Amino acid sequence: MILKVEKVGLGIETEDKLLNSLVENGKSHYPNEFGGFLVGYYSDDNRYLHITNTILPKSFKASKCSFERSTKGIKKKLDTYYKETPQKFYVGEWHTHPDNSPIPSMTDISAINAIINNRNACLANPVLLIIGYSKTKVDFGFYVWFENKLYRYE
Ligand SMILES: [Zn+2]
Repeated sequence: MILKVEKVGLGIETEDKLLNSLVENGKSHYPNEFGGFLVGYYSDDNRYLHITNTILPKSFKASKCSFERSTKGIKKKLDTYYKETPQKFYVGEWHTHPDNSPIPSMTDISAINAIINNRNACLANPVLLIIGYSKTKVDFGFYVWFENKLYRYE
């Protein structure tokens, strides 16, 4: 799957295999939200972001309408990816919205702000993937933070 937002000029590329595994992981926590970190790399011309892996949080707090992950142990796992493929790093986060649409909540937006303001992350354009799902369908909402706004990929 390749997605683009004209204004942002950054395409996102993911593999169905990764997306399916996020959905499976997410659904196993029904009716609560669940999520994790996204790992990927940019193309040489910086126009495409390839999202390749996820890291699941070691500990988290979740309810039907909230998800808060801990970053414990994340650095170690990111280092492992980095050793294998030096271009790979933390590019954003994902979480589910069970029985709901993949529209960011106020909490989601403030969480993105916290990522931007975290100097350790050094991430200018984090990606947010929200997976809205019900018994009958799955809806992916890909967003990127660009110039103080969240843009949705179509
Ligand atoms: Zn949310």
